[in-house]
Amino acid sequence: MADFTSDIAIIGAGPSGLFMVFEAGFMGYQSIVLDSLPQAGGQLAALYPEKPIYDVPGHPHILAGDLVTKLQQQAAPYQPQYLLGEAVTDLQALPDNAGFVLQRAGGSTVHAKVVIIAGGGGLFAPRKPVGLLNLATFEATGSVCYAITNKAALAGQTVILAGGGDSAVDWAVELAGLAAHVHVVHRRSDFRAAEATVQAMLNLAASGQITLHTPTELQALHGANGQLEAVTLLKADGTTQHVAATSLVCCFGLQPQAGALESWDLGLERGVIPVDFATMQTRRPGLLCIGDMASYEGKVPLILTGFAEAAIAAKKCQAIINPEKKYKVQYSTSKGVPAAPPAAPSA
Ligand SMILES: Cc1cc2nc3c(=O)[nH]c(=O)nc-3n(C[C@H](O)[C@H](O)[C@H](O)COP(=O)(O)OP(=O)(O)OC[C@H]3O[C@@H](n4cnc5c(N)ncnc54)[C@H](O)[C@@H]3O)c2cc1C
Repeated sequence: MADFTSDIAIIGAGPSGLFMVFEAGFMGYQSIVLDSLPQAGGQLAALYPEKPIYDVPGHPHILAGDLVTKLQQQAAPYQPQYLLGEAVTDLQALPDNAGFVLQRAGGSTVHAKVVIIAGGGGLFAPRKPVGLLNLATFEATGSVCYAITNKAALAGQTVILAGGGDSAVDWAVELAGLAAHVHVVHRRSDFRAAEATVQAMLNLAASGQITLHTPTELQALHGANGQLEAVTLLKADGTTQHVAATSLVCCFGLQPQAGALESWDLGLERGVIPVDFATMQTRRPGLLCIGDMASYEGKVPLILTGFAEAAIAAKKCQAIINPEKKYKVQYSTSKGVPAAPPAAPSA
């Protein structure tokens, strides 16, 4: 007997997992959503809650954090249960097509007829700088972090952004008017980010609002009582430079960690799981996958893609749970949704 039971268990509370709750609920199925992070929202909440997104249909622009809030509001009428803060570590298929039992890191179990993996980039583990002196001291106090979850906290600070991808470049532009000064440290001379944003950063550097350090690496952190005061940079020519800074944000991306999924015989390779695009089913019956983690020819890993995949997966859920029922497209305008109850508590 499992501790929790539901029609559908959704692994991953990113945008795809959250919209899956709506699509499953619209078809009449109850969902439990599991995530290793303490909050819902996946990459949007963990990596860029205060950044505007411009390519969600119907929203000319919306902050990532606001999109998460709206997705949860949209799912609320179907009363999902959120089990957050613990990774899913194991999966057992029950005999006679009786579904699956999922094991959580803390020991509790979840039984569901269908499991939908919406694991995105996998378990989040930020890539950390290697060999950076005193890193642990300043990490512990928050002077060094790996994602900006509260932009306002950086107002008036001297911020070093380390990295050369979209995150570092986007934040450099975003913080230029807010922070006292922004330094960008990158080990290469060229940036792997959207051309227009790189150009915006170069313009800000030309006007003196941003200082670029390339090709340069982080060498040592300095300060007192856990408050960062300066960073030693190591340039490619072997010389060092001492830069005053109160905050270091390392934007080196996420360490791809599939976690337990690797041993579930799903053909997981390079962090993605092959699926049949017509149903979003993996090679194991009853185990579906949507969002960034689902792979098929022509896949475009964007938020809007995950939304459409949720609708396809919901259709397959009905075929698995109620095979006797004929699928019929239903319009939300005709069917409506139940009234939203008060927010469900997390467990
Ligand atoms: C800086 C940045 C900017 C971006 N901008 C855009 C944009 O403008 N437009 C756009 O469309 N896309 C954008 N993206 C991409 C977008 O964020 C992803 O496509 C989207 O988050 C994928 O959603 P998802 O639900 O599939 O997965 P995710 O958001 O990655 O969520 C997956 C969740 O699954 C959880 N998980 C994984 N494995 C387990 C496990 N074993 N147990 C428990 N939980 C687990 C993770 O903790 C995570 O919370 C951007 C990404 C980044 C990094």
